[in-house]
Amino acid sequence: MEKRRLGKWEFGGSVIGFGGIPIQRITDEEGIEVVKACLQSGINFIDTARGYGKSEEVIGKAVKGNRDQWVLATKSMVRDYQGMKNDIEISLKNLQTEYIDLYQLHNVRKDAEYEEIMGENGAYQALLEAKEAGKIRAIGFTGHDVAMAERAVDSKKFASIQFPYNIVESQGEKVFEKAKKEGIGVIVMKPLAGGALEDGTLAIKYILNNPNISVIIPGMDSIEQVQENALVPAKDYTLTKRELEKIEEIQRKLGNRFCRRCGYCGPCGVGIDIPAQFLMEGYYSRYNLKEWAKSRYDALDKKASDCEQCGLCEPKCPYDLPIREMLNEVKEIMDKG
Ligand code: SF4
Ligand code: SF4
Repeated sequence: MEKRRLGKWEFGGSVIGFGGIPIQRITDEEGIEVVKACLQSGINFIDTARGYGKSEEVIGKAVKGNRDQWVLATKSMVRDYQGMKNDIEISLKNLQTEYIDLYQLHNVRKDAEYEEIMGENGAYQALLEAKEAGKIRAIGFTGHDVAMAERAVDSKKFASIQFPYNIVESQGEKVFEKAKKEGIGVIVMKPLAGGALEDGTLAIKYILNNPNISVIIPGMDSIEQVQENALVPAKDYTLTKRELEKIEEIQRKLGNRFCRRCGYCGPCGVGIDIPAQFLMEGYYSRYNLKEWAKSRYDALDKKASDCEQCGLCEPKCPYDLPIREMLNEVKEIMDKG
């Protein structure tokens, strides 16, 4: 498995990492097997979060006994000093380890949040102290907003930034270039655009061709996915003419206005699973799975047509999607379908 530097750091992690969100969906035993399969396939970088349900705990059980072979990254949404101190201890306990390689500030969205984190009573101080105490090895930053990521890079206070990047989301490219120059690692989240991209191999090949990228973390919840993703860097990943054409076609089809299924817009007051509406409509309209998508959509408890247009979800979407308008479109397409 190819290894790249994480900025200045020869950190020893594989270029394909394990994104720890989806193992919440499977049983603990299955999750442990999936994580163990990573190491067998050469994947030894794991990214999880305090906010990913049982993910840290399952990973902790899976890496127990051979901790030194893994590079573990986690993150917390907490912004204050004491909260971060507590979260670091919880992560250490959940991951069953004495140290965490990379502890990240999770999804920093606004300047005010950034200032709180870096302020006197902020989370950054707790991370610094944990680093000095040997509880964490490096401090990272994650977010979806270009200006915030650039601010993190310019501050030179982080070992890495984690940011979305894929065939249809290239807004971070300039920041990645800058990060590389400054010796800051770049971890790519959402390599499959939150499920909007179907061809995982093509999606990963595309990203591997960017030399500013250190690690790519597709979410995985099956051994087959692990094996498939691990194989991509082993082969020549230069994009062929046919693949470049396919990429252009996908870019034309999807544009920018699509849901990445991050879930930050919830909870909806009426109980609508917002990303599920867009996902089913996507399967219906783009992937030639009309019947299947329609039956899944019909089985949803609450549908786009139940939206009361309160608008409370929209400011929470890191991609500024006009959710109400898009739900109206879903309603039009799916109710007629
Ligand atoms: S605008 Fe619709 S989807 Fe968004 S929170 Fe309100 S009811 Fe839910
Ligand atoms: S609508 Fe926005 S916030 Fe909600 S899941 Fe999609 S991309 Fe994320």
